[in-house]
Amino acid sequence: MNDYQNLKITITGQGGSGKSATVIKFVQNHFVEDYDPTIEDSFRKQLKVNEKVYMLDILDAAGCEYYWGMRSPYIKETNIFILLYSITNQSSLQFLKDEEYRDIMKYLSEEQEYSIIVVGNKKDLENERQVTTKEGEEFAEEIGAYFVESSAKTDDLVPLFEKIVTFHLDG
Ligand code: GDP
Ligand code: MG
Repeated sequence: MNDYQNLKITITGQGGSGKSATVIKFVQNHFVEDYDPTIEDSFRKQLKVNEKVYMLDILDAAGCEYYWGMRSPYIKETNIFILLYSITNQSSLQFLKDEEYRDIMKYLSEEQEYSIIVVGNKKDLENERQVTTKEGEEFAEEIGAYFVESSAKTDDLVPLFEKIVTFHLDG
């Protein structure tokens, strides 16, 4: 039986921000302390939202402009972009603003219907915070994105992905 809708998700952001930890926590429900930062991988997981089943194809991307050029076919099919930074690292938000967002926009196709989610990760490390919630919110608002702070270490990420899919479906 193939009674589900496919959604392609691309998660991107500066190395060390917690992209892999976030995807693996969601898909496999455990927190990885050390995941090879050079690995690009894709994951599949079914998720039920409002009584409908979605098959999520998640690409844990490696970033950089050259990279996006090579991945442009995948970008053109992406439904949901997750731009992830770490609240403990100001440069990881700056990276999204100055590079990643602009680079991805270059490769989108015109008829594409996509959503963007800005995730401020590592919210468990409140005492190391460098990025205020307001700064994250303002960036998200600027680009018409949904905003959320989360922690791959301490949060259950199923509700996060339910929210992300709901936001995409409701627009
Ligand atoms: P990536 O390069 O963006 O894929 O980052 P990783 O997922 O490999 O994470 C980089 C480091 O940050 C690893 O040591 C993770 O264990 C750690 N990390 C990731 N997310 C969190 C989080 O939410 N809280 C804390 N405390 N550490 C995290
Ligand atoms: Mg990684």
